[in-house]
Amino acid sequence: MLTQLEKMRNYFVTGATQSYAFRKEQLLTLKKAILQHEQALHEALYKDLKKSPEECWVTETGFLLSEINATLAKLHSWMKPKKVPTNLVNLPSSSYIMSEPLGLTLIISPWNYPLQLLFTPMVGAIAAGNCIVLKASEFAPATDAVMQQIITTIFPPEYILYVQGDGATVIPQLMQQFTFNHVFYTGSTAVGKIIYKMAAERMVPVTLELGGKSPCVVEADADIQVSARRIAMTKFSNAGQMCVAPDYVLVHQSKKEALIAALKHSINSFFSDTPQESYNYGKIINEKQFNRIIGYLQQGTIVHGGSYNLKTLFIEPTLMENVSVTDPIMKEEIFGPVLPILTFNTAAEAKAIIALNPNPLAFYIFTSSKAKENEWLTGVAFGGGCVNNASWHLTNHHLPFGGRGFSGTGQYHGKFSFDTFSHKKAILKTPTWFDPSVKYPPFKGKLGLF
Ligand code: NAD
Repeated sequence: MLTQLEKMRNYFVTGATQSYAFRKEQLLTLKKAILQHEQALHEALYKDLKKSPEECWVTETGFLLSEINATLAKLHSWMKPKKVPTNLVNLPSSSYIMSEPLGLTLIISPWNYPLQLLFTPMVGAIAAGNCIVLKASEFAPATDAVMQQIITTIFPPEYILYVQGDGATVIPQLMQQFTFNHVFYTGSTAVGKIIYKMAAERMVPVTLELGGKSPCVVEADADIQVSARRIAMTKFSNAGQMCVAPDYVLVHQSKKEALIAALKHSINSFFSDTPQESYNYGKIINEKQFNRIIGYLQQGTIVHGGSYNLKTLFIEPTLMENVSVTDPIMKEEIFGPVLPILTFNTAAEAKAIIALNPNPLAFYIFTSSKAKENEWLTGVAFGGGCVNNASWHLTNHHLPFGGRGFSGTGQYHGKFSFDTFSHKKAILKTPTWFDPSVKYPPFKGKLGLF
């Protein structure tokens, strides 16, 4: 492995990956391969997570293609050196910023959106002119196999290397033997800490896209029917296995019953009253995650759903109330189709609950009041979020996507990905025709101060 990484380093040093023509060609090659393998990818995603082709398109293949298209449209202008103003003391110099590739980058991804979360950062890394080592999660093996086939067919291993196996073994082997120029990791906060420590040993910069408990606040003045539809849509997509899924709802006490009724209605209209047979409803990735999630069902009162089947890894969309903030259901990221509903009377009460799990990756506020919207958006420290919506902020590549503190560091998507995988080199260029003696010693008396 070490020899292979050294070959990649040698390849990078030749400068082969740096031209605009090269980067564009690789992105076009990738796009063509995704379109050619679309059917195989959708079948694999169905096998791993029971995603319908429509859901695959919106959250995986189509999402990725849209990122490639947006990058191709702007890459040439992103790559150009950016002129910036020069301050008085440096005149008549001029100043600009060059975007340079970082070098050899490592991208590590989780299993819940296995294609999107491995290949979307790769688009940024290719666009910025890097060599890349890819490591997908071993827990979505069908998608892992198709992605491996795509990458090894279209890219030489000295440019993009696809690595497989148990993450806890393979990743330390890579990171402890070799100094990458950047590590881009998406996954749990617990493993994020391990990655951060390993990177620190070799002073490797990181982007960490982590998880956490993303709250969803529903104010008394919210449109309850629309709020319920949008919350249920995001929460139960991919059977709740989404990093930005509303982890729990905080609803104004006066609207609790109305919201629960509307959520039940939305769940039934999306997945019927037999969601275990629904074309639109996914499955839990594996038995370990299944057992963890059903453990939460004992920690409160089930007001909707609650059934499950280990054989098919099915857990019904479930609403719960009467949960305690000291139980695991309110201390751990749920990452499954279980939605606790808590109430508040004052914003201070709700903020105190949110503060128990600080720096959520996402935050959603449902209200029709501009004043409340401002109060919430400025009053909670979160990665990104929506007003009267949930999760869709991440589908706009003009917005940076990332967390803060325990939910991550750094951001990507669109231009933000290009910047994440580039070094910003600051250049001051000074002409020689003007060279006043005031800039050189002896300085005594030159400022007129002494
Ligand atoms: P995970 O942390 O278990 O695994 C992620 C990756 O790390 C995998 O590729 C795995 O092989 C590797 N890994 C596992 N153990 C390791 C170790 N000891 N050392 C080094 N690498 C190791 O996460 P997961 O269960 O695959 O994904 C779920 C988590 O990811 C949730 O917390 C979710 O919120 C988060 N997530 C975040 C985002 C985001 O964009 N912020 C997106 C999706 C998922």
